[in-house]
Amino acid sequence: MADKILVTAALPYANGPLHLGHLAGAYIPADVYVRYQRLKGSDVIYICGSDEHGVPITIRADRERASPQEIVDRYHGLMKESFRRMGIRFDNYSRTSLPLHHRISRDFFLRLHDQGHIQPHEVQQCYCDQCGRFLPDRYIEGECPHCQAPDARGDQCENCGRVLEPEHIISPRCKICGSAPRTRTTTHWYFRLSSFQRQLVEWQKGKPDWRGNVREFSSGWFQEGLSDRAITRDLDWGVEVPLVEAKGKVLYVWFDAPIGYLSSTVEWAENLGDPDRWRRYWADPKTRMIHFIGKDNIVFHAIVWPAMLMGHGEFILPDHIPANEFLNIEGKKLSTSRNWAVWVDEYLETFPPDPLRYHLASNAPESKDADFTWKDFQARNNNELADVLGNLVNRSLTFVEKQFAGQVPPAADLTDGDRAIHAAISEAVTAIGRSLDGFQLRKATGELMNLARIGNRYFNDSAPWAAIRTDRRRAATTLHTVIQLQWALSALMEPFMPFSAERLRQMLNAPESAAGPRWSEIPEMRLPAGHRLGKREILFHKIEDDVIQAQMDRLRGNSSV
Ligand SMILES: [Zn+2]
Ligand SMILES: [Zn+2]
Repeated sequence: MADKILVTAALPYANGPLHLGHLAGAYIPADVYVRYQRLKGSDVIYICGSDEHGVPITIRADRERASPQEIVDRYHGLMKESFRRMGIRFDNYSRTSLPLHHRISRDFFLRLHDQGHIQPHEVQQCYCDQCGRFLPDRYIEGECPHCQAPDARGDQCENCGRVLEPEHIISPRCKICGSAPRTRTTTHWYFRLSSFQRQLVEWQKGKPDWRGNVREFSSGWFQEGLSDRAITRDLDWGVEVPLVEAKGKVLYVWFDAPIGYLSSTVEWAENLGDPDRWRRYWADPKTRMIHFIGKDNIVFHAIVWPAMLMGHGEFILPDHIPANEFLNIEGKKLSTSRNWAVWVDEYLETFPPDPLRYHLASNAPESKDADFTWKDFQARNNNELADVLGNLVNRSLTFVEKQFAGQVPPAADLTDGDRAIHAAISEAVTAIGRSLDGFQLRKATGELMNLARIGNRYFNDSAPWAAIRTDRRRAATTLHTVIQLQWALSALMEPFMPFSAERLRQMLNAPESAAGPRWSEIPEMRLPAGHRLGKREILFHKIEDDVIQAQMDRLRGNSSV
C-alpha cells in the first residue's frame, strides 16, 4: 500500500508579498518533498492557504484606508501567483477568510469548549475611551522601557527587538487616535494548554528523529511549564467566537490559522466533487501529517496545535515537523519592515525560478541560519547548474546531433566505465531518496550535482570526440550511456527544478507517461538506440556580474538598514 502523507506548509500571512525567507523556510522544502513522494508513488497531498486574520492586517488596512478584505485580497492574489510561478504546486491553496474556514474553526472551538478545554477568564486590558474599544497589544504604542525608542509596539520593540507587555510601555497611546488608554476588565477565553503537558511530553518522546531545534524548543517550554493561552481577541476582523457571551470577539489568529490546514483539505475535497475525501487523510491514523514551518512557528506546531488536536480527538497528530532556521540576506537578518528582503516577484522579473529553487535547496537553513548572497546565487548558477549540469547536457547533445544525426546511438561491448555510470545512477537514486525522506535538501542537491559531475568526468575520460575517428562504436556507446544518464537526471531533478527537468525531457524527446517515471524505476529507464532526440537548447544560462550588481544595488537602494 502506498504511503499516505498529508503535507502542509505554514500558511503565509496575507499582509505583504512573498520573500526568499518564506520560500527557504517552508514552501520549497515542502514542494521538493512532495514532488519526490509523488515520484515514489506515495499518496500525498500538499495543502496550504493564506492566513488572513489578525491585527497586522487590520493595522495595515487602517494605514492604507482600505478594508481588511481589500488588503488580504491583494496579497492572497500576489502570493498565489508567486507560488505558481515558482512551481510550488499545492493540491489546494485556500484562504482563512472563506466562510468554510470560519465554520470549521467555530466547530473546532465549540468541540473543545464543550469538552471543557476552553474556559473564560477576567483580565485587565487596555481600553481607549476615545475609540470606544479594547486595544490589542499591537494597537498600543509608546516609549520602550529598555531602549527608550519612542514608538515601541505593545507586544514588541522593533528597535531593540525585545518582547514587551503593553503595561510596561512608557506613556502608552492608542495607535488609532493617539489618546492615552486606561485599563478595564474584560473577559477572554483561554485554551487549557497546561492540562495537556503530560500528554504532549509523552507524545514527543515517540519522536526521536525530530530536528534538534524542535525538540530543544519544546523541552524548554515543558520545563517552564505550559500555561493556558488566551485564544480570543477584541477585534472586528476574524472568526467570530461562537458563544453569545463573547459577542464582538474573534478567535486569536493563532488559534484559527492551523485549523486552516483542515479547512483547506476540506475545500480540496469539495472541489474534487468528493466532499468526504479529506477524512481519508485527517481521520486515518495511517496518514503521516508533516508540517513544514520556519522556526518562529515551532511552539504553535509542536505544542499548541497538537494539544488542540488532542483535545478535539477526531484527527491525527503531526508525524513530523521539519522546522527550518532563518535565511539571512547578505549577512543581515531579513527584515520586511526595513525592506531588507529579496521579494519573489522582483526576483522573477529577471531570473527563471529553477536557479533560485536549486540555490535555496542546496543552501537550506536546516540546522542553522543560512545566508543568501547574490554572489553565492550567481556562483551556484554559473559553476554548478551551467558549468556542470548544463554543460554535460549541451556538449553531449551537440555531439549526438552532429555525429549521430540527433538519434540515440547504439551501445555495444560495455566497459567497466560505462557500467560505472549505471551504477552511479542507482546509487544516486538511493542516496537522494534517503536524504529527501530525512528532509535533508542540502545533502540531496549535493548528491544530484555529484551525479552530473560523474557524468562529465566520464565524458572527458571517454573522449568521444577522439574515439569517433578511430572507434565509432566506442564513441556511440559513450553517448548512448550519457543520454541514459541525462534521462535519469531529468527525473532526479524534477523535485528540485521542475521546469528545467521538463525542458530536459523535451530535449531528449523522452516519452511521458501521465504519472512520470517511478523513483525506483529510474535506474532502469532506457531511451533505445535510434530514438530521435528533441530540439536542443541551453538548459541554464550564465548570469553576468552586472546583472548581479544591479540586484545588490536594488536591495541596498530600497532598504532602510
Ligand atoms: Zn526597545
Ligand atoms: Zn483610540
